[in-house]
Amino acid sequence: MEIKAALQAREEIVWLNEKKDSTVNDSKELSAAAVAEAEARLQRFAPVIEHYFPETQRTGGIIESPLKEVPQLKAKLNADYGANIRGRLFIKMDSNLAVAGSVKARGGIYEVLKHTEDLALAAGIISGTDDDYLKLTSEAARSFFRKQKMQVGSTGNLGLSIGIMSAALGYEAIIHMSADAKEWKKALLWQKGATVVEYAGDYGEAVKQGRLQSAADKSSYFVDDENSRDLFLGYATAGKRLESQLEAEGIAVGDDCPLFVYIPCGVGGAPGGITLGLRQIFGRNVHCFFAEPQESPCMLLGMATGLGNSISVQDVGLTGKTQADGLACGRASGLSCRVMANELAGIFTVRDGELTDYLHTLWRSEEIFIEPSSCAAIKGAVQIGTNDICQKYLVQNGLAEKIDKAVHIIWATGGSFVPQEIRDELLA
Ligand SMILES: *Cc1c(COP(=O)(O)O)cnc(C)c1O
Repeated sequence: MEIKAALQAREEIVWLNEKKDSTVNDSKELSAAAVAEAEARLQRFAPVIEHYFPETQRTGGIIESPLKEVPQLKAKLNADYGANIRGRLFIKMDSNLAVAGSVKARGGIYEVLKHTEDLALAAGIISGTDDDYLKLTSEAARSFFRKQKMQVGSTGNLGLSIGIMSAALGYEAIIHMSADAKEWKKALLWQKGATVVEYAGDYGEAVKQGRLQSAADKSSYFVDDENSRDLFLGYATAGKRLESQLEAEGIAVGDDCPLFVYIPCGVGGAPGGITLGLRQIFGRNVHCFFAEPQESPCMLLGMATGLGNSISVQDVGLTGKTQADGLACGRASGLSCRVMANELAGIFTVRDGELTDYLHTLWRSEEIFIEPSSCAAIKGAVQIGTNDICQKYLVQNGLAEKIDKAVHIIWATGGSFVPQEIRDELLA
């Protein structure tokens, strides 16, 4: 198989998804109605979020990030990388999402809240979805949650979001961390009251162990990054939120104003959910691309071979090791591979060395700091206007003549929690 050989040879790859179609799948389990329900649930929990995380007072307990136009970055990428970016360039600052400091504040926190609502309704802590959700912060509710466990396997950021949110609500949080997880992320979790279990193995191993241990315990709930519908729905709520932010910028995405979105990809849940949410809003006029490290392109491998989660990057001789700790996943989410089959435009691979270059470039041009995993998204903006395969995509989709009116979004997925000394090291 050609793609396997190219991956093995560590070639720089731009893969186009030939199965993408112009209509959006509205499968029952992940329908636009289900995403709207998720958004309504986040609204119901807003007073609880505001109660535990006063930094969300400004937004009334809604966790959302700014959309920032970055003209200096555009100029710098065009000048230094010959990027030929046409149209407007923005960064979606999920790197600065409150509570978790990463994109995982969308999916991870949503799933904790969903489970909390289910438990609280069943136990009669709240009488219905129109009850006062602040009851969930009462001492009685907290002592109920203290007897419940929340577990997850993670390379770091998902663990942070689940650990911080569930510990705040009163749960016993147990976070199974892969060898790739950064020390500061583990330390922060301990400090927030979660228990961290460390594994010498990779992300797949941490997930497997967490899943096993949780299954053996009736009072435990496992957030399953490889299969979770709720995580996906939480991420997908980004679609409507972004639509309002674009409107505020005077942008109406449409046939004459295409939207290009570049998202870093690990196991595929976060970028998959966001893509689904965007496609439900913008349909054929949004073009979503993922970016993955050269040593762990698990979604590319799963989607291009059609083998989904039954193949790992190690199976084709890659190490799965990368400085982009948030993307160090050797095996893709089967759910994401299935849901993305007709939605995703394509996938880029990126070398670790380039991530550091982009990190510096973004800092020097805009004084924005994001973590290395996040920087993978910048690769998309660099490739779209220059790479031959991308040009083919533009022509095939009738976009070449509209590109001057295009809007490009680099989805920054993490960074605001990175401690100063680590920032200094990365920027040195
Ligand atoms: C988790 C994460 C991603 C990718 O999300 P997946 O669901 O693993 O694909 C990207 N960037 C950062 C910083 C992350 O933490």
